[in-house]
Amino acid sequence: MSRIVYVNGQYLPETEAKISIFDRGFLMADGVYEVTSVLDGKLLDFAGHSVRLARSLKELDIATPCSDDELLAIHRELVARNEVVDGMVYLQVTRGNPGDRDFAFPGADVKPTLVMFTQSKPGMADSAQAKTGIKVISIEDIRWGRRDIKTVQLLYPSMGKMMAKKAGADDAWMVEDGHVTEGTSNNAYIVKNGRIITRQLSHDILHGITRAAVLRFAAEAQMEVEERPFTIEEAKAADEAFYTSASAFVMPVVEVDEAAIGTGKPGPVATRLREIYLEESRKTAI
Ligand code: PMP
Repeated sequence: MSRIVYVNGQYLPETEAKISIFDRGFLMADGVYEVTSVLDGKLLDFAGHSVRLARSLKELDIATPCSDDELLAIHRELVARNEVVDGMVYLQVTRGNPGDRDFAFPGADVKPTLVMFTQSKPGMADSAQAKTGIKVISIEDIRWGRRDIKTVQLLYPSMGKMMAKKAGADDAWMVEDGHVTEGTSNNAYIVKNGRIITRQLSHDILHGITRAAVLRFAAEAQMEVEERPFTIEEAKAADEAFYTSASAFVMPVVEVDEAAIGTGKPGPVATRLREIYLEESRKTAI
């Protein structure tokens, strides 16, 4: 089925959607994005994603393309037109098309580009991987210093994913100064003696929307949370590990650098948090 996508005010068949070759997103990765999950045709934590989008745009001095209400309406229209039951809505805003290539930012007359499309993933909440857990390798984090801004500079994370595949694993956790920053497209956690340990927020990691929700639910369930950096050695010696992201929810991690974590099976904390996250997010989905 050919999708209907959104480009700068228009809903178009995907084959007719066009962006200029001078768009700064294409030439300079000068853009930001968000991915919002859809379950049962409803958006999960839309408010969280729109707040982070506004922050990313502000940090890069890119104009806001439209109001939050308009953004929500476009998300819903795309979900409806593409009959998405489970899946996601991808949104990208770039600094736009100045009509030429120039390192300097264009003036205010150049409007940002707004592109959105859907991806269907039937039954995504029932992922087989969540039942077995996934394997990660560790790689050096060589990304830039503002990982808190959700830019479309995803080359190194893509390379990390390929390094993981080549090593027979599913994903890579990045390490800087001996400590895990985050996964290629997710926030990383370990559990030791019932305590959930995850790196604190800073410019070093993306401020995951799922992370915020999961830490809130963990606190509500009286689980202990410690926000601090951890090492790969600690991960290997942990009772369990997991990661979070908008599209994978809470995903158990059962192996790091070929060493089994805990029993080598998804642990009770990750399993419980996944259940709570799915249950609570469905309740507030819009
Ligand atoms: N870190 C990185 C580097 C990511 O790309 C993502 C997912 N976009 C996350 C963390 C998780 O963020 P969220 O829970 O908002 O999807």
